[in-house]
Amino acid sequence: MIERVKTKKIYVGNVAVGGDAPISVQSMTFSQTRDIDSTVEQINRLHFAGADIVRVAVPDIEDAKALKEIKKRTSLPLVADIHFNHKLALIAAEVVDCIRINPGNIGSKDRVAEVVKACKERNLPIRIGVNSGSLEKQFDDKYGQTPKGMIASADYNIKYLEDLGFNDIKVSMKASDVQRTVQAYRGLRPLNNYPFHLGVTEAGTLFHSTVKSSIALGTLLLEGIGDTMRVSITGELEEEIKVGRAILKDSGVVKDGLNIISCPTCGRIEADLVSAVAQIEEKTKHIKAPLDVSVMGCVVNAIGEAKHADVAIAYGKGAGLVMVKGEVVARLEEKELVEHFIKEVEKAAKEFKI
Ligand code: SF4
Repeated sequence: MIERVKTKKIYVGNVAVGGDAPISVQSMTFSQTRDIDSTVEQINRLHFAGADIVRVAVPDIEDAKALKEIKKRTSLPLVADIHFNHKLALIAAEVVDCIRINPGNIGSKDRVAEVVKACKERNLPIRIGVNSGSLEKQFDDKYGQTPKGMIASADYNIKYLEDLGFNDIKVSMKASDVQRTVQAYRGLRPLNNYPFHLGVTEAGTLFHSTVKSSIALGTLLLEGIGDTMRVSITGELEEEIKVGRAILKDSGVVKDGLNIISCPTCGRIEADLVSAVAQIEEKTKHIKAPLDVSVMGCVVNAIGEAKHADVAIAYGKGAGLVMVKGEVVARLEEKELVEHFIKEVEKAAKEFKI
């Protein structure tokens, strides 16, 4: 059983982050935010894919002004990502649900104080987003782009806000590799109780980002660290949500849908297992009940796995068995097995809800 580090609960719109709230999955649009139609379309795609929160870049005044209309046309909680210019944060704070700034790069303390005041008026949290590639000069000079430098930067920015009486804070500590990312989050965790937004930044294409994010975020989640997360992928928006949800599920942090146990390719398989598992995965993706199901290519391990599975198939030559809770419920030809198996899974899912 994973024991989550107890963090302060904050709210990004209607989504709770930290404390006992479920770990949320978020992403970011890639349109120019001032292009309202494209940004709304991307936010809606993310919403449909299952995102809990979405972030948009606000590099300019036109982008900040567009937020009002975007907010009217979407319902996902919106985070405005702002660097350097506090005026953009003041405009954004009138409509969005969270501001991402690093106080250290906003300028004078008076300017940060104005942003803090605007956020307090609307109960908005602030995300401090430390990135190894853009540390403040004093930390970069002293520590370089190391976990120590990232921790020092995060701690400095947190204290900056705390000195202004603000503590609705969440923190991210992203590096572009696994080790620095893990070390930074681990190192900062004992120093405060603010919720952490996990992520490996600039993690690459779908394949490499999936590997890096699974190792880094999986490691941290298994240590109980992490309250919200983004998987950064050079690719389609929806993939970020799909991989994020899979990391939560496959690390065992959340129970959500089927856990499909299936054989690797193996010389004993006497059926088209690859196609059978692909069909099962596709046709059962709507099922939310956390069932264990196994799809095994021969009898060597099938009976053992089936004992632990809610529903199982054991393939033989041209035929096979369907089992429920270790008991054989059908002996069928290969072409009939998948359909019958899915019926048994659906039945088990309904019973699970009761
Ligand atoms: Fe191979 Fe059979 Fe083991 Fe599957 S259960 S991996 S088919 S030996």
